[in-house]
Amino acid sequence: MSIKTTKLTRLQQKELSLSRFHNMLLKINETVLRANDRIKLFEQICSISVENGGFDVAWVGQLNTTSLTVTPLAWHAENAGIDFAKLSFNTCKKSPHYSELCDKSISETRVVIADHATYQYSKPETLDDRIRKHGYASAVAIPLFVEAEIWGVLVLYDRKPQELDKDEVGLLKNFSAYISHALSHLKRSELLNYLAYYDPLTGLPNRELLIDRIQHFTQIVDRNESSLALVLIDIERFQILSKILGRQGADDLLKRFSSRLKEQVFNRDSVARMHGNTFAWLMVDVRSATQVARIVEAAIASVLKENNLLDISFFSLQTNTGIAMYPNNSACPEDLIEHAEAALKEAKASPERCVFYSTEMNEIVFASLDIEHRLSNAILNKQFVLKYQPKIDLRNLRIVGMEALIRWNDPDHGQIMPNCFIPMLEQTGRIVDVGNWAIQQAISDYSTWRTLGLRPSIISVNLSQVQLRRSDFVDSIKDLLSEIDDHGLSLEITESMLMENTQDSIDKLQAIRNMGVDLAIDDFGTGYSSLQYLTLLPVNYLKIDKEFVNNMTSDPNSMTLVSTIISLAHNLGLKVIAEGVETEEQCKMLRLLRCDEAQGYFFSKPVDFETISELLKQDRLDHPH
Ligand code: C2E
Ligand code: MG
Ligand code: MG
Repeated sequence: MSIKTTKLTRLQQKELSLSRFHNMLLKINETVLRANDRIKLFEQICSISVENGGFDVAWVGQLNTTSLTVTPLAWHAENAGIDFAKLSFNTCKKSPHYSELCDKSISETRVVIADHATYQYSKPETLDDRIRKHGYASAVAIPLFVEAEIWGVLVLYDRKPQELDKDEVGLLKNFSAYISHALSHLKRSELLNYLAYYDPLTGLPNRELLIDRIQHFTQIVDRNESSLALVLIDIERFQILSKILGRQGADDLLKRFSSRLKEQVFNRDSVARMHGNTFAWLMVDVRSATQVARIVEAAIASVLKENNLLDISFFSLQTNTGIAMYPNNSACPEDLIEHAEAALKEAKASPERCVFYSTEMNEIVFASLDIEHRLSNAILNKQFVLKYQPKIDLRNLRIVGMEALIRWNDPDHGQIMPNCFIPMLEQTGRIVDVGNWAIQQAISDYSTWRTLGLRPSIISVNLSQVQLRRSDFVDSIKDLLSEIDDHGLSLEITESMLMENTQDSIDKLQAIRNMGVDLAIDDFGTGYSSLQYLTLLPVNYLKIDKEFVNNMTSDPNSMTLVSTIISLAHNLGLKVIAEGVETEEQCKMLRLLRCDEAQGYFFSKPVDFETISELLKQDRLDHPH
């Protein structure tokens, strides 16, 4: 081979090399102009480098400035024998994954070329060495920048040696410039995109994104028949606060407020900044307006509780809240926002801090919340009392028992009947304390009667499902009865209470029976107990529901039912009590049917401690009224 031909070949090679680089640059330029997604851009750059640039492998990696690693984000590496998804190139010499190529290109911010001529194996072996062993004679690393800051590298491997001169290196620098320009452009458009949906101050979704989420969740709600609540919360007197705190201080307050609020939300709920000092909380899967009001009230109380929310002690931070619900009182997502805004406006204008859209709903919610608040202190303030209704032995008309029935003496509304407040106590779990109070009071009244020399009869106290469900139920009764030999306690449970966790309930009730406590099934006939199930229960009384007793004399079916229940109970060794006996006729009929005991207005209404004490003194109701 003559020198001349070698030179010609070199020149031809150079031209070939330059033209493929030009071609590659052209393609990259086209791609860069259309780029709207980083990963797609990188994937295209890699395939252009291989298909147009003639390289065997190309990958793009991003530098993590904390861990000093370069992680490949995209690659074109068919038949390369290297799994880039698992690789991470380190730019720190001590790392076993050290890559001199990446290190130099990043730290010196220049195109680095490693070819067979300059190549020497290092000790210990670097990641570059291990890749080279797959048959790559040369490699090029091109630094990439975002707004003049180093961002990562484009690395190209070739099975052929590369002898690149300054023209070619110049073209590679152009690659770097083009791609870096695209990256900077993408960063700006991502930021714009971010600004379109997020609030830059708090990092919360903005109104646009909230509307998007509402639309998404209304579709889910339509399918699963649940409800959404949109809660708008506004910091009261924020304008004045801004003047006191200054711009920066007011911004800090908004940031702290929003992050506190975010801590209060549940999994799928979301918090957004609507505008200015108005935040939105979208509650998903809510059950009732009262539940929403309770949650919101507790959440706002915890947000405001921390005193470091505001550094100025003379200013007390308060909020106004407007709530609307979907589908309950809004037909579409737009309505929901509009209604919540209307409710917030109302809250700002009225003395109420929290307003529900629709006055009627507002009244219901706040009436029950009001009861809830007043109930929470009722035990402490000794507002509960027990009334007693005697149970009469139908053979001799003597008092053989009494039922304790709770009443609430509310200072504002007078005496309130249990059906109006027991459900609320059950929902909030307060029934546990109130139920224990009732048992304690009944035991204490029983012992008072004994010390007065009376012959008190057994007192039955009604039990709630919530009490029975608790794992400490048996222990709590044991504690209440400890050190009392003759407690005279009996408990009434309803059939429906036993439907869930049957075996667990049976075990607990058995333990209670073992403490000498009688058990009665209340309102029998209204639930769904099977007969077989009845035999398993450790009860000794059945109370026939007052509906059947009431209809007994006019409706033959009720009559048959009452008589059947009585004989069934007797066959099972249980005693029967008829509830709600109001007439002499009913009383006579029940005696004929051999019902054991009766309770009702015919004998006595539930009466207070003094009156029942008088009845006990007579010990016999000769003339029921
Ligand atoms: P219950 O246990 O079935 O109590 C019987 C209800 O019937 C009582 O209503 C009683 O006043 C009423 N009643 C008694 N005789 C007659 C009658 O001849 N005619 C009519 N129409 N009604 C009569 P009250 O006192 O309003 O209690 C309602 C329910 O509240 C009770 O039904 C019981 O389930 C619950 N309750 C009462 N006190 C407590 C308590 O301390 N704890 C729990 N968990 N529930 C209680
Ligand atoms: Mg009862
Ligand atoms: Mg009853």
